[in-house]
Amino acid sequence: MIQKMRVKTEQRVQMVDITSGIQRLIDRAAAKSGIASIFCPHTTAAITINENADASVQSDICQTLSSLIPHHSRYAHTEGNADAHIKSALTGSSRTVFIDGGKLCLGTWQGIFFCEFDGPRTREVWVRILKD
Ligand code: ZN
Repeated sequence: MIQKMRVKTEQRVQMVDITSGIQRLIDRAAAKSGIASIFCPHTTAAITINENADASVQSDICQTLSSLIPHHSRYAHTEGNADAHIKSALTGSSRTVFIDGGKLCLGTWQGIFFCEFDGPRTREVWVRILKD
């Protein structure tokens, strides 16, 4: 079963830590061991895993992506969000994380992030918990 999580973003480019929301879905599914597949069904957003201890890492990632891929340039896509499509393509639309002992298997400093590139908007993250 696919579970849908809602994510509300507040800025045009922003990383939102969704780790605890994913963990809640695992708890609800009583999954002791398995895999969590986390998917972003949007063309101007993405899912990534990175440091969640120091928030400056997230702002560095957002600022660097925005300086490499500026909002306005000579893009063929004229909707005004070509940069967001490119940032989404580079970051990727899904991640898979192991579940063990009922917990997400993440490194000490890792968190799962929803990456907004054309916000603010209300978005969805689709999650599938597969139990062993
Ligand atoms: Zn577009």
